[in-house]
Amino acid sequence: MKIFNTLSGQKEEFQPLSDPVTMYVCGVTVYDDCHIGHAMSYILFDVIRRYLEFKGYNVKLAQNFTDIDDKIINRANQLGIPSKDLAGKYIAEYFKDMDALNIRRATIYPRATEEVPKIIEIIETLIKKGFAYELDGSVYFRVKKFEGYGKLSHQKIDEMQPETSALADKKDSALDFALWKASKPGEPAWKSPWGEGRPGWHIECSAMSLKYLGETIDIHGGGQDLVFPHHENEITQSESITGKKPFARFWIHNGLLQFSGSKMSKSLGNLITVKNMLNDHSADAIRLFILSSHYRTPLLYSEESLLAAETGMDRVRQASKPGEKDNNGSDILDVSALEQKFTASMDDDFNTAQAMAALFDMVREINRGREQNKNVAAARDTLVKLANVLGFTLKKDIHADVTADPLIELLLTIRSDLRGIKQWQLADKIRDELLKQRIVL
Ligand SMILES: [Zn+2]
Ligand SMILES: [Zn+2]
Repeated sequence: MKIFNTLSGQKEEFQPLSDPVTMYVCGVTVYDDCHIGHAMSYILFDVIRRYLEFKGYNVKLAQNFTDIDDKIINRANQLGIPSKDLAGKYIAEYFKDMDALNIRRATIYPRATEEVPKIIEIIETLIKKGFAYELDGSVYFRVKKFEGYGKLSHQKIDEMQPETSALADKKDSALDFALWKASKPGEPAWKSPWGEGRPGWHIECSAMSLKYLGETIDIHGGGQDLVFPHHENEITQSESITGKKPFARFWIHNGLLQFSGSKMSKSLGNLITVKNMLNDHSADAIRLFILSSHYRTPLLYSEESLLAAETGMDRVRQASKPGEKDNNGSDILDVSALEQKFTASMDDDFNTAQAMAALFDMVREINRGREQNKNVAAARDTLVKLANVLGFTLKKDIHADVTADPLIELLLTIRSDLRGIKQWQLADKIRDELLKQRIVL
C-alpha cells in the first residue's frame, strides 16, 4: 500500500512502526459551525482510517479540539458569553455534524484547555534545551536553532516571509513563533512559570500527539492549508523535544475546496455549513461528491455535482438492496476482479475516485445479473462491504427542516449581498443574531 508523503514529496510504501497504527489529525477551533471544508478533510481521514482497518490494522486516532484561541475569545466577547461556553457549544455541534456525516469517532479527543500541564512541561523542556526563550511573559521557539526548518513545506528558511510587527524586532528572529502567550486583561488565563497566559496553537498538537500516541507517530493528517506554518512548527517542536526524527512518518494533506469565480468565495465556503448541506443532501451524497476527485487535488464546489452524487448514490442503494431472487440462480455472478480493482485503487494513495468507479461497475454487473437471473447474493454482499469501507450508510437520510430553513436561507442570501456591497457591519449583525438564536434554542 502506497501513500503520498508530503515530507518526501513522493508515494512511499506504508508499513506501520508497530501495532496499533498511530494517527493524529488536527481538529477544529471551536468558535463556529463546521463548514464543507471541514467535512472534506474529516471524511477523507475517516475513509483512510476505515481502509486501514479493512486491511487488518488496528488504528489509534487522536484528534484535538482547539478550545482556546483568539478567534474563540473574540467571538465569545462579541456574544457576551464565556469562551468556555462558546467552545463547549461548538464541540457539541461538531459531534452532531460529524455523526450525521457518518464520520466515526476518534479514539481520543484531547482539548487544549485540559492539557495545559503537559504543554507547560514540554515548553520547559524546550527552554532547558535552548530551543525556546521567554520574552515579556510569552515564550517563543528559536527557529534558527532547529536544523531543517522548512523541510515539510519545502521552503528555504531565508526565503520565508515572516510577519512584521513591533514584536518581531524584539524576538531573536522574526520567524520565531509563540509557544506560550501572555494573557491580556480579561482573557482566559492559566498560571505558568512565565506568568499568566495560554498555550499557542502549534504546541498543543505536539503535546497531545506525544502524550497520547508517543514520540513517533505513523500518520499525521490535515488540510494543505496547515502545512505551513502549523505542521512545520509541530515537527520543529516535537523533534526538538524528543530528539527523535521523524516526528511523523507519513504526512497526509488534503487539497482545499474551490469556488468558481465568486469574489466572496472564501466567506461563501464558511457559509456552506455541514448543517446547511445536510438539509438538502444525504450524508452519502456529500461523501460521494468529496470522494469523486483525488484527495490531493482541489475540489470544485458545485451544487450540480452534489445532485449528481445523489443520483449516483440512488443507484448504489438500489443495487445494494436484497432482491427476492438474488439467491435463486445457479450461475453465480463473480465480482472478485472488481473487488481487486477497488483495493488496488485504494492501495495506490487512496484513489477513491477509481475505487468508486469499481463500485459503479459492480452496480452495473449486479443489475445486469439480476436481469439475467444470475445468483447475485455474494456480489451484493461485496458491494455493501466495500461501500461500508468508504463510509457510506446506503440510507437516504436528508434532514429537511422545512419550517426554519427558507427564512435562514433568505437571511444568508441577504447577508451575502450585504457583504458584496461591503456593508460588513450589517452582515456581521445578521450572522451574530443567527448565532444567538441558536444559542437560545
Ligand atoms: Zn494541529
Ligand atoms: Zn446544496
